[in-house]
Amino acid sequence: MMLGSGAPELHPPEGFRWVADRLESAGFEAWAVGGAIRDAWSGDARADWDVATSARPEQVRSLFRRTVPLGIEHGTVGVVGPDGTMYEVTTFRRDVETDGRHAVVEFSDTIEEDLARRDFTINALAWRPATGELRDPHGGVEDLKEARLRAVGDPAERFAEDYLRVLRGLRFAGRYSLEFDPSTRAALEEAVPGLERLSAERVREELMKSLAGERAGETLALYAETGALDHWLPELAAVARADPRWQSTLSAIDAIPRHRAFLRLVRFLLALPREEGAEESRGSDSGSGADSAPVSAIMERLKFSRSEARRAEILWARYLPLVSPVDSAAAIREWLSEAGRDHARDLFRLHFALARGSGAIESERALVHTWRRVHDELVGGAPLDLSELAVDGNDILELGLPHGPLVGLMLEELHAQVIEDPTRNDRETLLAEARELIELGALDGLDSGV
Ligand code: ATP
Ligand code: MG
Repeated sequence: MMLGSGAPELHPPEGFRWVADRLESAGFEAWAVGGAIRDAWSGDARADWDVATSARPEQVRSLFRRTVPLGIEHGTVGVVGPDGTMYEVTTFRRDVETDGRHAVVEFSDTIEEDLARRDFTINALAWRPATGELRDPHGGVEDLKEARLRAVGDPAERFAEDYLRVLRGLRFAGRYSLEFDPSTRAALEEAVPGLERLSAERVREELMKSLAGERAGETLALYAETGALDHWLPELAAVARADPRWQSTLSAIDAIPRHRAFLRLVRFLLALPREEGAEESRGSDSGSGADSAPVSAIMERLKFSRSEARRAEILWARYLPLVSPVDSAAAIREWLSEAGRDHARDLFRLHFALARGSGAIESERALVHTWRRVHDELVGGAPLDLSELAVDGNDILELGLPHGPLVGLMLEELHAQVIEDPTRNDRETLLAEARELIELGALDGLDSGV
């Protein structure tokens, strides 16, 4: 098939053409495949144009000066184009064995075989720049025109080969507003329990891809509707079933820019039920707020890194309380010092998203007003963090206070004073204050509870 009327024009990046031309000149076929061709129909311009080729990985490596072995055993070589961009060049493949989690592949000589192992018809399109030919053996173009998601071949078999396709299907359906072909939908629902068998890493990566996509809220709604959510995120599945906040959570997720996928994840987790104040009594350094144990459990289950888990827990725990527009400057500084400089902006982003997502103009306006005041304090140079105090632990020890918890208490007391009045953040003033507190014995008795 040639690209005819009604088909979009394909505008691959120059670097892609350069890679394809060189392969073709050496006698190999070079096709653009996958997302780049699919997205041309939805008008999305994209940077990552993947190449499928008849050349074997060693041949690809010998043709180009700058290559990166991305996954030689799967046939993928990264080729760095003249523009410095890396293109993924993958040898045609066919599956020889699948088990629902991974596939054993073999190299193949035809684009047809390569397209036959792809998951959905809209992903099984290939275009050869050398001839202008479009290969569409499974009716992907028709499905794109009809806004329909259909598996390549027998849907039940395709999901059983790799259960990740269940989640991929939900992502494509959500992102492009596709209707499921009925037999694909039925097979997908049947395959949902197979999600249990996937590795946490693949599920996590797929979830993050969905969160980074357009209409992520729609994809998550499909996760809930098909029962996919029950397998990896049952806590959120329960919210989807019973909680009136579910819809506003989905719109709030879409109200966060796509490149902040991690913040979208946190926004999603904020739908979990909270037990306010529990964290404080445990003396955790997450500060006051809700007990973030439910978040920790999910982050661990999906094998997020320790630092990612930490960031999610902190934002979740500190989401509430938020300062209000009528709070004093001192109260705002106190909130900022609790929230932490790094997280304050993200916390506001999370609140903004909820207001914007639900069209709550009044609360959005109040948030803008509050944020302006918070921002003034953020850049105003007040010592929000203990480390920004004009004196440190050594200074206190030199005043004769013994090593131990009293030193920390003293610093906290001084910090509270400068949060109240930042002009007091001066070495002499604070040392004088500390001497006076020691003389008064003001800290005595306080340490018994520490
Ligand atoms: P995007 O990059 O926009 O998320 P994509 O379609 O490029 O979407 P990738 O995960 O990058 O998705 O995969 C590239 C192509 O490889 C897909 O279009 C599809 O043809 C094929 N593919 C990827 N994963 C699978 C899978 N699990 N089963 C079958 N085919 C797959
Ligand atoms: Mg891709």
